[in-house]
Amino acid sequence: QLSLEQVVEHIRWSDGLVPAIVQDAKTRQVLMMAYMNRESLKLSLESGETWFWSRSRQELWHKGATSGNVQTITSLKYDCDGDTLLVEVKPNGPACHTGAVTCFHNEIVGLPEQSADQASGNSSTATSSASSESRFEVLAELESVIAERERERPEGAYTTYLFDKGVDKILKKIGEEASETIIAAKNKDNDELRLEVSDLMYHLLVLLQERKLPLDDIMSELSRRHERPRRD
Ligand code: AMP
Ligand code: ZN
Ligand code: ZN
Ligand code: ZN
Repeated sequence: QLSLEQVVEHIRWSDGLVPAIVQDAKTRQVLMMAYMNRESLKLSLESGETWFWSRSRQELWHKGATSGNVQTITSLKYDCDGDTLLVEVKPNGPACHTGAVTCFHNEIVGLPEQSADQASGNSSTATSSASSESRFEVLAELESVIAERERERPEGAYTTYLFDKGVDKILKKIGEEASETIIAAKNKDNDELRLEVSDLMYHLLVLLQERKLPLDDIMSELSRRHERPRRD
């Protein structure tokens, strides 16, 4: 537990700035990186919300001042050598100005292990505990991409088409994909079932985005039910 004056002493400022990594306290997703100077660190500590120094605009920047997507700070740490801050937050909305939940949504492909993983395409054998978390991360990534599509509406994207058509089209698709899921299950065809459940889950995520209901709320609801002893 250090005072602001002590913290400022411990930080290795580089041209008066220190990089601050912003992490969602609940989902543990890394949301963004921005720079803080002494003044923005002070404002962050005083207000309990993130303030940065915008290098492009050369001004103090209260994250969410225009978008409303402010970040309430739940913890603030500096690393072992004092050259980086870690800010855990409760975000009020997407961190990225593109509308994506996290700024880190530009996946660079081509890693040897990853390409081997994808080439095998065998989901039923992917049972190692190390991979279990990253497998579910796909859902969070998909949520980010869908949010970006809704905001940017890139031409030719199927998700753009769905948002342009509106909620009734999305609901109709969910009905169709649910029916196809039922048929695949009845036919005991797991290859087909895998495809149909994937279609269904994708369309459910599009619906959640349309309704502005975060996937995280669904996950919280599920874990609440999981914790509670079942009475039925
Ligand atoms: P906001 O702080 O969310 O009200 O956004 C105000 C402006 O800050 C945006 O128009 C962007 O130029 C910039 N901005 C917002 N979020 C980010 C971010 N995560 N990374 C970089 N620039 C951002
Ligand atoms: Zn270390
Ligand atoms: Zn460091
Ligand atoms: Zn961004």
